[in-house]
Amino acid sequence: MGTGVLVLVGALAIWAGPAAAVVGTACRYEVAVSAAFVLEGTVRCDAGVTELLTMNSRADRHTKLAFDGGAGRYRVDLAAMTASARRLGEAFRIGNSVIVNGGTWLPYPDTIDGRPVALEVTVTVAPGMSMASAMADAEGRIRIDADTLFAAGYTVFGRLRRHSLPFATVDGEPGQVLVVFLDGTFTLGDAALLTWVRQSVTATVNFWGGLSEPLVLLAVLPRSGRYGVLFGRVMRGGGLSVALMVGERVDARALAEDWVLVHEFVHVGHPHIKGDPWFAEGLATYLEPIIRARMGRLGPAQVWAGFRRRLPQGATVMAATGLAGGGFVGTYWGGALWMLLADVGLRQATAGRAGLEHCLRAVRQDGGAARRVISVGEMIAACDRALGVDVMTRLYARHAGSVHPVALGRLWQDLGVRPVDAMTVLDDGAPLAWLRRSIVDGSMPVVAEPTENGDPHVRP
Ligand SMILES: [Zn+2]
Repeated sequence: MGTGVLVLVGALAIWAGPAAAVVGTACRYEVAVSAAFVLEGTVRCDAGVTELLTMNSRADRHTKLAFDGGAGRYRVDLAAMTASARRLGEAFRIGNSVIVNGGTWLPYPDTIDGRPVALEVTVTVAPGMSMASAMADAEGRIRIDADTLFAAGYTVFGRLRRHSLPFATVDGEPGQVLVVFLDGTFTLGDAALLTWVRQSVTATVNFWGGLSEPLVLLAVLPRSGRYGVLFGRVMRGGGLSVALMVGERVDARALAEDWVLVHEFVHVGHPHIKGDPWFAEGLATYLEPIIRARMGRLGPAQVWAGFRRRLPQGATVMAATGLAGGGFVGTYWGGALWMLLADVGLRQATAGRAGLEHCLRAVRQDGGAARRVISVGEMIAACDRALGVDVMTRLYARHAGSVHPVALGRLWQDLGVRPVDAMTVLDDGAPLAWLRRSIVDGSMPVVAEPTENGDPHVRP
């Protein structure tokens, strides 16, 4: 018999691998969700499981559980939980629908010896309700490792509007992004929102060369009385899911100018990267305007104007602390500047044959799919190996943990990114203008035959 709260430290940094393989110990959960969003579960476990634990203190306040002799019951009052406070990281209600994290509605089965436990979960919902979860298979059954609950993806219950966007996966298999609108409305109407989602997601999936997983859940949360695209987050445990908060009064201009959805789907495309948060955030921050330019939503001058406005903050971090100690600015703008330096370095070292995007795709094809956990060191080594260079390895040593200034003014000059009055003007006569163009439009410049002294050179 036992109940308790599992204290999590840095829970978001923890991620467990793909859906549970067959392991020795399993727990079977049968869960029923009532129309009032009260969830009743029965649990039966193999020998070795000693207790069920709630995953955070707020879940604990709204959960009753009992467990003895390998069997137990629990009850989670999601309605009461979301009435006391709405947190996307726990549970959030919109109309007659609720979005929950795995750890909020599935208690953690603990063992004395820390052995792996597999969960098999079946869910029934009240008439008129439905469920959507990236953790569930086509029959609605969830099979995950218990440790996955630490960072388990979003599940939504209630009155939902579903749309399936088909994509081929990176392996060429059929896949889909399941778009689920929670129970609120948009002034523009669902069709306009769905068109915007389809365009943003298609551009990003195409950039990566296919969908990461056969199923990615995109839960769209309409926020009453609000404007604009407000917030997005990706959760990976047990399956990729994205929560996106959008004001119900969002207008067409805000959708056209939005960066959040593309940023989140850049994260959907890359493997889970351990350590150095600036690497994943820098990647998403750097690639997002480039992908939006390829969609036609931004002009090249706008992309470079944005970089010229923001990246100096990253250069300040590199000169002061290095990226590892750079805080929020270092994570996003320092990380993005590092990605620009890598992209320029890779394109120069390969005489224009490949850039950052090519090495990322190569790593992904080489077993680096989005559900894989990879360290920054492994990612960088694989990237350099794929392109036959050492650009990223050297840049990492230079800027991650140590302090080195970046000659940003010189870089803008070489790329032909020039300030003229309050504007950013692109100069096609600059020595690396070809490289600047290829970063944004993805074009491959003409690579000349090696010159007489054997050095390849690149013509615009
Ligand atoms: Zn991000």
